[in-house]
Amino acid sequence: MRYLSCFGRQKRPPDNNDAERASLNGGDEAYVRGCVFCDVTRERGFNIAYEDDELIVFHDRSPAAREHLLVIPRRHVSTVRELRAPDAALIERMFARARALRPGPDVRMGFHIPPFSSVHHIHLHVLVPPLKFKGVLKYPVAPGTDGGKGWSWFVTPSQVISILEANGRVGLGPTAGRKS
Ligand SMILES: [Zn+2]
Ligand SMILES: [Zn+2]
Repeated sequence: MRYLSCFGRQKRPPDNNDAERASLNGGDEAYVRGCVFCDVTRERGFNIAYEDDELIVFHDRSPAAREHLLVIPRRHVSTVRELRAPDAALIERMFARARALRPGPDVRMGFHIPPFSSVHHIHLHVLVPPLKFKGVLKYPVAPGTDGGKGWSWFVTPSQVISILEANGRVGLGPTAGRKS
């Protein structure tokens, strides 16, 4: 199975949008059938590094750095494009977990922005250097003004939080963040 390489063309249409909105709004649609990240278990061959009631952390099967982890919520949450201001708290917790597991100033973290994500269940990439060449290409950080972002298909958790707190939405283009 090759589904863990999170980049490039989509292999299937996005998940049902109504279900995604329900999950983001705290509805009962926590599980989306056919979503591989709704089924992350050791039995399914995932190399799990950490798990609790809310989050699971596992090793990417196609590492783009010396070490490459993915942090996901158990509950199905769609992509960074669908996030709104109240979702900043979840991103904060995913970021805090990643930092606790892999501290260090050079660890690169972030989310792909559709259409540059192949799995539409939100996942935070945690890349421990050195990055491989494809890692440099696939996970570029573009700083923006006020904590926001520049043009990029990758966005750091700090940028996401800043943009959401400014009541913005994450996309490919430059977006302002909350002035800190
Ligand atoms: Zn990704
Ligand atoms: Zn899912």
